[in-house]
Amino acid sequence: MLDLIISGSYGNPSSTHYLGRETKKIVDQARELVADSLFCDPENIIFTSGGTEANNLALRGIHFPSNRFRIAISAAEHSSVYNTAHEISPFVDIIPLKKDGSLDLDAAREIITSETALVCVMLASNETGAIFDVKKIAEMAHSVGALVHCDAVQAYGKMFVSPYELCVDTLSISGHKVHAQSGVGALFVAPGVFIRPQITGGPHERGFRAGTENYIGILSLGCAAEDILKGGYLSSALRDLFEKGLKYKLQNVTINAEDVERIPNTSSVIFHSISSAEMLLHLESYGVIASAGSACSSGFLSPVKTVLAMGKSTEDALSTVRFSFSKLSTMQDTVTALEACILSADVLRHRLN
Ligand code: PLP
Repeated sequence: MLDLIISGSYGNPSSTHYLGRETKKIVDQARELVADSLFCDPENIIFTSGGTEANNLALRGIHFPSNRFRIAISAAEHSSVYNTAHEISPFVDIIPLKKDGSLDLDAAREIITSETALVCVMLASNETGAIFDVKKIAEMAHSVGALVHCDAVQAYGKMFVSPYELCVDTLSISGHKVHAQSGVGALFVAPGVFIRPQITGGPHERGFRAGTENYIGILSLGCAAEDILKGGYLSSALRDLFEKGLKYKLQNVTINAEDVERIPNTSSVIFHSISSAEMLLHLESYGVIASAGSACSSGFLSPVKTVLAMGKSTEDALSTVRFSFSKLSTMQDTVTALEACILSADVLRHRLN
């Protein structure tokens, strides 16, 4: 990637001259690698500017038959699905979560009907890491003739992801979640599923997404896909050690969705009676960077939506901190994070007493 940037010797992949052909080769190779990592064919991959655009392309691009107007989405969906669904339809049904953080499949069975055009369920929650039973949802949706979109942005690279195995019609991934650049992503579209392009213009991406390809970003996504193919998926060992240490050393912590199957990198922790905003500040002073609810317009952190959807209180959702591990995390990082949590919680709880 650096060679390409430094040499500046790249052309527009749509150009027929030698430099264009070289760049096209890079884009084609990346497409093959991304397709391999998803166990699908390259012609089913559309490169986009990220997960948000891939989700928009799926939701806005899918054809709604006139007798079907409802969209069903899970309560855990990322804003790029949640807000888009509400933008395009006044009839959005929310599939609730259960208290343990899993998807309420009984409720889904009631919600998904012959009026449903599209069902959107993410493969893993970006907030708790809980893995949702997308395959079951796809069975329900297809049995009534609805299409299924799966946001696999958080799951990709952390677990086996195959749109065919999940039986979904479209599936999105994003580069920055797998150590590729930010500003690149992809949408899988199953053969036979028609998607209306949302960015029109030239014939790029087989007409599904006009505009000269972000080939450096695409190359980085191809490299990340190659790493996933070679390196396998992340182990949960460090995350599990971190959580064990927290529970052993600190009273009054709850691990969200602890009892359901989760992706191996995510730990969502409620530090009861401590505000997540204060916890984040303290953790950062020890060099530990974590996250909590998104910042709202007033500058304060909003409660973590998925924690609320699990039936927990606003107070719990405002005391939730999410820790993310990656293939770059070490045992030393984990111990540092654990110690920082213990020290920070001690200081903040002491101040309350
Ligand atoms: N979906 C999920 C589950 C995410 O966590 C994110 C981003 O973090 C997105 C979609 C959006 O992806 P992007 O930032 O590439 O637009």
